[in-house]
Amino acid sequence: MANFVRHGRKVRARYQLHAFVRTHAHGVHHTHTHLALCSDGAAQVVAIGRNYKLHAEELQNPVPAEPFWFLKPPSAYVLPGSPIVIPDGVDSIHHEVELGVIISRQCKNVSERQAFDNVAGYCVALDMTARCWQDKAKKKGLPWTAAKGFDTSLPVGSFIPASLVRDPMALTLWCRVNGEQRQRGTTADMLFSIPQLIARVSQIHTLEEGDLLLTGTPAGVGPVVSGDSIEIGIEELKTSATFRVQ
Ligand code: MG
Repeated sequence: MANFVRHGRKVRARYQLHAFVRTHAHGVHHTHTHLALCSDGAAQVVAIGRNYKLHAEELQNPVPAEPFWFLKPPSAYVLPGSPIVIPDGVDSIHHEVELGVIISRQCKNVSERQAFDNVAGYCVALDMTARCWQDKAKKKGLPWTAAKGFDTSLPVGSFIPASLVRDPMALTLWCRVNGEQRQRGTTADMLFSIPQLIARVSQIHTLEEGDLLLTGTPAGVGPVVSGDSIEIGIEELKTSATFRVQ
Protein backbone atom coordinates (compact mmCIF):
# COMPACT_ATOMS: atom_id res chain seq x y z
CA MET A 1 0.00 0.00 0.00
CA ALA A 2 2.78 2.37 0.93
CA ASN A 3 4.46 1.73 -2.41
CA PHE A 4 1.21 2.26 -4.25
CA VAL A 5 0.58 5.57 -2.52
CA ARG A 6 4.10 6.73 -3.16
CA HIS A 7 3.93 5.66 -6.80
CA GLY A 8 0.55 7.28 -7.33
CA ARG A 9 1.71 10.52 -5.84
CA LYS A 10 4.76 10.58 -8.11
CA VAL A 11 2.75 9.84 -11.23
CA ARG A 12 0.28 12.57 -10.42
CA ALA A 13 3.09 15.01 -9.71
CA ARG A 14 4.74 14.13 -13.00
CA TYR A 15 1.44 14.70 -14.76
CA GLN A 16 1.09 18.12 -13.20
CA LEU A 17 4.58 19.11 -14.17
CA HIS A 18 4.11 17.71 -17.63
CA ALA A 19 0.96 19.79 -18.07
CA PHE A 20 2.96 22.78 -16.90
CA VAL A 21 5.53 22.01 -19.58
CA ARG A 22 3.14 21.36 -22.43
CA THR A 23 1.15 24.50 -21.81
CA HIS A 24 4.05 26.83 -21.46
CA ALA A 25 7.00 25.49 -23.39
CA HIS A 26 7.35 27.69 -26.45
CA GLY A 27 10.94 27.14 -27.47
CA VAL A 28 13.17 24.11 -27.92
CA HIS A 29 15.33 25.13 -25.00
CA HIS A 30 12.30 25.43 -22.74
CA THR A 31 10.94 22.09 -23.90
CA HIS A 32 14.14 20.20 -23.20
CA THR A 33 14.47 21.75 -19.78
CA HIS A 34 10.92 20.84 -18.93
CA LEU A 35 11.19 17.28 -20.13
CA ALA A 36 14.27 16.82 -18.00
CA LEU A 37 12.37 18.13 -15.00
CA CYS A 38 9.47 15.80 -15.69
CA SER A 39 11.54 12.65 -15.86
CA ASP A 40 11.34 11.95 -12.13
CA GLY A 41 9.54 14.92 -10.60
CA ALA A 42 8.22 14.47 -7.08
CA ALA A 43 6.69 17.95 -7.21
CA GLN A 44 6.97 18.76 -3.56
CA VAL A 45 5.85 22.34 -3.00
CA VAL A 46 7.71 24.12 -0.22
CA ALA A 47 6.28 27.53 0.68
CA ILE A 48 8.17 30.01 2.82
CA GLY A 49 6.16 32.19 5.20
CA ARG A 50 6.75 35.86 6.11
CA ASN A 51 9.84 36.42 3.99
CA TYR A 52 9.18 40.12 3.44
CA LYS A 53 9.19 42.49 6.43
CA LEU A 54 6.31 44.70 5.23
CA HIS A 55 4.12 41.67 4.56
CA ALA A 56 4.75 40.21 8.02
CA GLU A 57 3.84 43.58 9.50
CA GLU A 58 0.68 44.11 7.40
CA LEU A 59 -0.81 40.97 8.98
CA GLN A 60 0.46 41.92 12.46
CA ASN A 61 2.87 38.99 12.47
CA PRO A 62 6.35 39.06 14.00
CA VAL A 63 9.28 39.21 11.59
CA PRO A 64 10.85 35.72 11.75
CA ALA A 65 14.40 35.23 13.02
CA GLU A 66 14.86 32.18 10.78
CA PRO A 67 13.03 30.79 7.74
CA PHE A 68 9.90 28.73 8.29
CA TRP A 69 7.77 26.93 5.73
CA PHE A 70 4.78 24.73 5.00
CA LEU A 71 3.97 22.27 2.20
CA LYS A 72 1.29 22.33 -0.48
CA PRO A 73 0.04 19.15 -2.20
CA PRO A 74 0.44 18.58 -5.99
CA SER A 75 -3.35 18.98 -6.45
CA ALA A 76 -2.88 22.66 -5.56
CA TYR A 77 -1.33 23.40 -8.99
CA VAL A 78 -3.41 25.47 -11.43
CA LEU A 79 -2.37 26.43 -14.94
CA PRO A 80 -3.60 29.52 -16.80
CA GLY A 81 -6.93 28.72 -18.40
CA SER A 82 -8.15 26.80 -15.38
CA PRO A 83 -10.00 28.53 -12.55
CA ILE A 84 -9.03 29.09 -8.93
CA VAL A 85 -11.87 27.50 -6.97
CA ILE A 86 -12.78 29.01 -3.59
CA PRO A 87 -13.32 26.15 -1.13
CA ASP A 88 -16.78 25.56 0.30
CA GLY A 89 -17.39 27.53 3.47
CA VAL A 90 -15.06 30.39 2.48
CA ASP A 91 -16.28 33.77 1.15
CA SER A 92 -13.00 35.17 -0.10
CA ILE A 93 -9.41 34.06 -0.46
CA HIS A 94 -6.25 36.15 -0.48
CA HIS A 95 -3.75 36.55 -3.34
CA GLU A 96 -0.03 36.27 -2.50
CA VAL A 97 2.21 36.73 -5.53
CA GLU A 98 5.55 34.96 -5.13
CA LEU A 99 8.70 34.04 -7.01
CA GLY A 100 8.80 30.27 -7.56
CA VAL A 101 12.16 28.49 -7.70
CA ILE A 102 12.24 25.11 -9.47
CA ILE A 103 14.85 22.65 -8.19
CA SER A 104 17.02 20.92 -10.80
CA ARG A 105 18.22 17.81 -8.97
CA GLN A 106 17.97 15.84 -5.77
CA CYS A 107 19.87 17.75 -3.09
CA LYS A 108 20.41 17.63 0.67
CA ASN A 109 22.48 19.83 2.99
CA VAL A 110 23.17 22.32 0.22
CA SER A 111 25.54 25.14 1.13
CA GLU A 112 24.47 28.71 0.41
CA ARG A 113 27.43 29.03 -1.94
CA GLN A 114 26.25 26.09 -4.05
CA ALA A 115 22.51 26.75 -3.80
CA PHE A 116 22.06 28.16 -7.31
CA ASP A 117 23.72 25.02 -8.78
CA ASN A 118 20.50 23.25 -7.80
CA VAL A 119 18.08 25.68 -9.48
CA ALA A 120 16.58 24.81 -12.88
CA GLY A 121 14.53 27.94 -13.27
CA TYR A 122 11.85 30.25 -11.99
CA CYS A 123 8.17 31.06 -12.36
CA VAL A 124 5.67 33.53 -11.05
CA ALA A 125 3.15 31.91 -8.72
CA LEU A 126 0.27 32.61 -6.35
CA ASP A 127 0.10 31.21 -2.84
CA MET A 128 -3.70 31.45 -2.57
CA THR A 129 -4.77 31.52 1.05
CA ALA A 130 -8.07 31.00 2.85
CA ARG A 131 -7.18 33.73 5.36
CA CYS A 132 -10.20 33.08 7.59
CA TRP A 133 -9.09 29.48 8.07
CA GLN A 134 -5.48 30.50 8.54
CA ASP A 135 -6.45 33.06 11.21
CA LYS A 136 -8.40 30.36 13.08
CA ALA A 137 -5.51 27.89 12.80
CA LYS A 138 -3.02 30.50 14.03
CA LYS A 139 -5.13 31.26 17.10
CA LYS A 140 -5.39 27.58 17.98
CA GLY A 141 -1.77 26.79 17.14
CA LEU A 142 -2.89 24.34 14.43
CA PRO A 143 -1.27 23.63 11.03
CA TRP A 144 -2.14 25.75 7.99
CA THR A 145 -2.71 22.87 5.60
CA ALA A 146 -6.41 23.53 4.88
CA ALA A 147 -5.89 27.30 4.57
CA LYS A 148 -2.90 26.97 2.22
CA GLY A 149 -3.22 23.57 0.57
CA PHE A 150 -6.73 23.38 -0.86
CA ASP A 151 -7.06 22.26 -4.49
CA THR A 152 -6.24 25.12 -6.92
CA SER A 153 -4.37 27.12 -4.25
CA LEU A 154 -1.22 27.22 -6.41
CA PRO A 155 -1.61 29.00 -9.76
CA VAL A 156 1.70 29.05 -11.66
CA GLY A 157 2.96 30.91 -14.72
CA SER A 158 5.52 29.95 -17.36
CA PHE A 159 8.77 28.23 -16.51
CA ILE A 160 11.77 30.50 -17.09
CA PRO A 161 15.15 28.68 -17.35
CA ALA A 162 17.74 29.87 -14.84
CA SER A 163 20.10 30.71 -17.71
CA LEU A 164 17.74 33.55 -18.71
CA VAL A 165 17.61 35.12 -15.24
CA ARG A 166 20.60 37.32 -14.51
CA ASP A 167 19.76 38.16 -10.89
CA PRO A 168 16.80 36.39 -9.21
CA MET A 169 17.36 38.57 -6.13
CA ALA A 170 16.46 41.71 -8.11
CA LEU A 171 13.10 40.91 -9.71
CA THR A 172 9.92 42.97 -9.52
CA LEU A 173 6.84 40.91 -8.64
CA TRP A 174 3.43 42.39 -9.34
CA CYS A 175 -0.19 41.39 -8.92
CA ARG A 176 -3.29 43.09 -10.35
CA VAL A 177 -6.90 42.24 -9.53
CA ASN A 178 -9.47 43.25 -12.18
CA GLY A 179 -6.79 45.54 -13.63
CA GLU A 180 -6.01 47.31 -10.34
CA GLN A 181 -2.53 46.97 -8.89
CA ARG A 182 -2.56 45.23 -5.50
CA GLN A 183 1.04 44.09 -5.03
CA ARG A 184 4.36 45.33 -6.33
CA GLY A 185 7.62 44.42 -4.63
CA THR A 186 11.20 43.41 -5.29
CA THR A 187 12.85 40.12 -4.43
CA ALA A 188 15.73 42.25 -3.13
CA ASP A 189 13.55 42.79 -0.04
CA MET A 190 13.43 39.11 0.93
CA LEU A 191 14.42 38.63 4.57
CA PHE A 192 16.12 35.33 3.66
CA SER A 193 17.71 35.03 0.22
CA ILE A 194 17.12 32.15 -2.19
CA PRO A 195 20.49 30.55 -1.24
CA GLN A 196 19.64 30.86 2.46
CA LEU A 197 16.22 29.27 1.88
CA ILE A 198 17.57 26.34 -0.16
CA ALA A 199 20.32 25.75 2.41
CA ARG A 200 17.92 25.78 5.36
CA VAL A 201 15.13 23.70 3.80
CA SER A 202 17.58 21.11 2.43
CA GLN A 203 19.08 20.69 5.90
CA ILE A 204 15.70 19.43 7.09
CA HIS A 205 14.36 17.49 4.11
CA THR A 206 15.71 16.39 0.75
CA LEU A 207 14.69 18.45 -2.26
CA GLU A 208 13.98 16.61 -5.51
CA GLU A 209 14.23 17.46 -9.18
CA GLY A 210 11.10 19.39 -10.14
CA ASP A 211 10.24 20.52 -6.62
CA LEU A 212 8.92 24.06 -6.36
CA LEU A 213 10.04 26.50 -3.68
CA LEU A 214 7.74 29.49 -3.10
CA THR A 215 9.80 32.30 -1.61
CA GLY A 216 7.19 34.39 0.22
CA THR A 217 5.05 37.36 -0.76
CA PRO A 218 5.70 41.10 -0.65
CA ALA A 219 3.17 43.44 0.99
CA GLY A 220 -0.27 44.18 -0.43
CA VAL A 221 -2.08 40.87 -0.01
CA GLY A 222 -5.85 41.07 -0.03
CA PRO A 223 -9.11 39.29 -0.79
CA VAL A 224 -10.53 38.15 -4.11
CA VAL A 225 -14.05 36.86 -4.70
CA SER A 226 -15.81 34.77 -7.30
CA GLY A 227 -15.66 36.44 -10.71
CA ASP A 228 -12.41 38.32 -10.09
CA SER A 229 -9.49 38.12 -12.48
CA ILE A 230 -5.96 37.95 -11.03
CA GLU A 231 -2.97 38.83 -13.20
CA ILE A 232 0.55 38.20 -11.89
CA GLY A 233 3.95 38.80 -13.39
CA ILE A 234 7.66 39.40 -13.08
CA GLU A 235 8.58 42.68 -14.74
CA GLU A 236 12.19 42.04 -15.76
CA LEU A 237 11.40 38.58 -17.16
CA LYS A 238 8.42 39.84 -19.18
CA THR A 239 6.32 36.97 -17.91
CA SER A 240 2.72 37.13 -16.73
CA ALA A 241 -0.27 34.87 -16.21
CA THR A 242 -3.97 35.47 -15.61
CA PHE A 243 -6.34 33.38 -13.50
CA ARG A 244 -10.07 33.63 -12.98
CA VAL A 245 -11.57 33.08 -9.55
CA GLN A 246 -14.58 30.78 -9.71
MG1 MG B 1 2.83 32.94 0.85
